[in-house]
Amino acid sequence: MVSLAADDLLTGTVLNNADKAFDGNPGTYFSATNFNYGWAGLDLGERHVITRVGWMPRDNVPSRMILGVFEGANSPDFMDALPLHIIRSVGEVGKPGEMNYAEITCSVGFRYVRYVGPATSFSQVAELEFYGHKGMGDHSNLTRITNLPTVSIHTLDGVIPYDKEHEIEAQFTIIGDSSYALLSEPGTIRERGNASRDFPKKPWRIKFEKKQHVLDAPAHAKKWTLINNYGDKTLMRNLLAFELSRRLGMPYTPYGRAVDVLLNGEYKGCYQLCDHIQVHKDRVQIEEMTPRDNSGDALTGGYFFEIDAYADREASYFYSNQWKPVTIKSPDSDSITSVQKNYIRNHFNRMESNWSSYLDLNTFLRHFLVGELSGNIDTYWSVFMYKQRLNDTIYTGPVWDFDLAFNNDGRIRNPNDMSDYVYRSGGSCAGNMRSFVDKIIINNESTKDQLLAIWGEARHNGIDQEHLVAFVDSMEEELLLSQELNFLRWPIMKKIVHQNPRIWGSYAAEVENVRDFIRKRVEWMDNRLGYTYVPESISIISDSDPDDIDFSRPYSVYSLSGQTLGTDLNALPTGIYIVRQGPLVKKIQIR
Ligand code: CA
Repeated sequence: MVSLAADDLLTGTVLNNADKAFDGNPGTYFSATNFNYGWAGLDLGERHVITRVGWMPRDNVPSRMILGVFEGANSPDFMDALPLHIIRSVGEVGKPGEMNYAEITCSVGFRYVRYVGPATSFSQVAELEFYGHKGMGDHSNLTRITNLPTVSIHTLDGVIPYDKEHEIEAQFTIIGDSSYALLSEPGTIRERGNASRDFPKKPWRIKFEKKQHVLDAPAHAKKWTLINNYGDKTLMRNLLAFELSRRLGMPYTPYGRAVDVLLNGEYKGCYQLCDHIQVHKDRVQIEEMTPRDNSGDALTGGYFFEIDAYADREASYFYSNQWKPVTIKSPDSDSITSVQKNYIRNHFNRMESNWSSYLDLNTFLRHFLVGELSGNIDTYWSVFMYKQRLNDTIYTGPVWDFDLAFNNDGRIRNPNDMSDYVYRSGGSCAGNMRSFVDKIIINNESTKDQLLAIWGEARHNGIDQEHLVAFVDSMEEELLLSQELNFLRWPIMKKIVHQNPRIWGSYAAEVENVRDFIRKRVEWMDNRLGYTYVPESISIISDSDPDDIDFSRPYSVYSLSGQTLGTDLNALPTGIYIVRQGPLVKKIQIR
């Protein structure tokens, strides 16, 4: 039972000249002066726990209110606002002349409440109502937009980030997995990225004033990125590639997590909150140089750099002797000395002309395998590398940027239909990277053995169709609610965007393309590398003694070379097969 007091219709001072939304008259409506980020709200005078919100649309145009967001705050500029509710569908918008209600579970007490209309709506609304009771409330229950963590960003004076140079003051609120896990900290936000900045859904770099632990990320850091995934309609490609990187044993894989993002109360879609790639004890783990490190051991590192087709747009870059464009990331352009710059350029040139002595093959080959297994056209368009102090070896990593991987680039065919690696079949390569990679991967016999050993180890470490498909399944389930809202905000499902090879038509079909790609890709890689997959633990049993396998439950059947043959032994001719059921792997003879 909700007590009468708990359900009072609240009144207060109307904010933002929104009287027409609070006049009890269905025939009048509020319209903000601004097209986007307009809002109507109340100052309740003191803190109240909100238990219910109500709204009435101005007319029969649901798009004016779909994705409209209710917020509560205790600062009059709403910088500290928390989300209360989002309107998710045409049905929920309701009809003009009728009030619609949503129950609010957020337990925090707020003095200020508001409704922020969706983009391009002028925030138009005929009536708004807020119900609740006086009280400070508590943080026992916070509202997220979906099952994903919510990242809510409020900028000072409502300035929207507009380029990569100007850092806009902001307050960041992150509501994590357990609904009470709350981070609320000041910092700055700006745009980031290259091609991805051209889309209406913008990628951002956020920087906290102080180092923060964010969600379940390992790093304690100021800088983080919000990846927009505009051209990746599965919204999971980067996260999937990071998983491949972990399973292929890269020493450092960037943190990444799917989140919903609000900017000044407006829903901006499903993003990936990721590590900012930088020198850091939990990220690229090398010594950070100072401008005093100009001689002796100190001059030898650490350096973090990127073979980068966009290098000439950066403040600090060089071309190598064999014409590779290289951006120096650390030391950064503000602090690097000319001595340091000369040192790393000379050392890079030395590596380029004598890679077998100076390039760490272990990381280079694993990075190559992540790129080819994911079918990434951009593997050698941008390659992060680093050099540690007192170590002449140049290491490759981390992996980054997989929007166009997993059969998402119309400039090339489906990588599974090609006879050669993506980087040799139309892949984008910075400078002379194609011939450089050829020297290592194609023309060197000992490298081939090492590549095969790494692949073989990975094939028994989670790089197999069954586990990778299960990972895609789990991501699809996790993203299901958020993708619905994302594609309401960005209605591009039936449009070609970025380099999309075709329109798949639905979220499920987009994900199925990725699932199908992976299923075939593992076998494609086995074939191209000349590798035969043999499960580790095989015990021969006769068909009359099926040991632990319970044939009444689902199992998978493989050929002796690891090829998937389906889920039914009875459908197969006589012969010897591998049967997997959960952790059990048995060789079975059908007579
Ligand atoms: Ca009205």
